[in-house]
Amino acid sequence: MRVAVIGGGAAGYFAALSVIEHHPKAQVTIYEKSDKVLSKVRISGGGRCNVTHDEPVVSRLIKHYPRGANFLRKAFAIFSVPDTIAWFKRHGVALKAEADGRMFPITDDSSTVVHALYDTAMRQGVRLALRSGVTRVEPVEGGFRLVMNDRMVMADKVIVTTGGHPKPDSYAWLAELGHRIEPPVPSLFTFNIPDDPIHQLMGVALPARVRIVGTSLESTGPVLITHWGLSGPAVLRLSAWGARSLSEKAYRFTVQVNWAGGRSEEVLRSQLGAEAMTLDRKAARNVDPFHLPTRFWVFQLDRAGIDPAQVWGTVPRKAKNRLLDLLTNDRYEVSGKTTFKEEFVTAGGVALEQVAPLTMQSSIYPGLHFAGEVLDIDGITGGFNFQAAWTTGFIAGRSVGG
Ligand SMILES: Cc1cc2nc3c(=O)[nH]c(=O)nc-3n(C[C@H](O)[C@H](O)[C@H](O)COP(=O)(O)OP(=O)(O)OC[C@H]3O[C@@H](n4cnc5c(N)ncnc54)[C@H](O)[C@@H]3O)c2cc1C
Repeated sequence: MRVAVIGGGAAGYFAALSVIEHHPKAQVTIYEKSDKVLSKVRISGGGRCNVTHDEPVVSRLIKHYPRGANFLRKAFAIFSVPDTIAWFKRHGVALKAEADGRMFPITDDSSTVVHALYDTAMRQGVRLALRSGVTRVEPVEGGFRLVMNDRMVMADKVIVTTGGHPKPDSYAWLAELGHRIEPPVPSLFTFNIPDDPIHQLMGVALPARVRIVGTSLESTGPVLITHWGLSGPAVLRLSAWGARSLSEKAYRFTVQVNWAGGRSEEVLRSQLGAEAMTLDRKAARNVDPFHLPTRFWVFQLDRAGIDPAQVWGTVPRKAKNRLLDLLTNDRYEVSGKTTFKEEFVTAGGVALEQVAPLTMQSSIYPGLHFAGEVLDIDGITGGFNFQAAWTTGFIAGRSVGG
């Protein structure tokens, strides 16, 4: 059985190794268009590779996928996080979990993961054809013909693992095969808020609730203020869940931020009332009722028209109300996005209704399989995207024989 894996990324390598594991006599070749393999694994997670997420329960795991959750529910029943941890352990890579659940190699170095995949594939006889971009796959009697710029090759089975691409043209050859393509749009980005004084607070991080005005999109968690706008887990989560609708808005929208972690104005007001005895004699700058970062507190005092040196008890009620409004109902005009350098992915790709989740096989052409980000599957940041690549790659490789 000649198996062609198109694309030498995370899913491609995992698929190739799974073919060998389940069908030891198969002859597997990875066709990679560039002159390097596993490039994203190498740069992933800031060079540390966030391999997966410490979430063994499938019903909870799938909640981290804005697209593909139902499809993955079935796939994760075959290969999920504990299988990933065990696989890497068997191949010499021990993983550790951080407090937020992200899992990295204990070396904190992505090259450990790259070597495990690359060296195992070499040892197990997986062939590698670099500078071999596939431009077309033609179903022929008993198999497939892969067309490249300088040659054609034949294969009995094909696993497509070409990853995500922002340009719809990149999927044209898959659409030619009759597969519907969900239009690709970027996911996992940060929000640009041009020319706003909030940039002064660059580097400040605090728990907040962020909403996109006029939609039901909302997320609570750490927000990081950057020199271009807003970032941090809560913002990235919103960018993933809103990937399609925010693209339709051309990344122009209003965000409402509750800097008090979602507590209401009334809750904050009653807290101020309860602590009045101790607060009233202090300078506004030193009043810290909500335990906000000092730079942030002084910035908001200033916006509310309160002199930080003024004694808190003498600050007019109107100014305090303005301050509470800024803390619970702050608004910013977002105009544009910035790619999150630690991890970004494409939402969209090969539509899932034409792919079987238990085999990753095309319902149009038996023998044609898909895995990884080329599918219309993407997760939020935290190791979920690689987990989808390992799972779908494993299943595709296992299933090519049947
Ligand atoms: C900077 C960055 C950091 C990231 N960090 C993390 C992280 O820490 N954790 C996480 O879970 N996810 C992370 N991700 C997302 C993750 O890298 C991807 O979801 C994952 O790599 C997808 O694997 P894949 O094999 O499907 O695609 P890819 O890794 O993109 O591999 C596809 C391969 O196919 C090749 N190819 C494309 N078209 C053709 C063709 N026509 N013929 C032949 N070859 C072709 C490409 O050159 C590429 O080598 C990160 C992404 C980026 C960009």
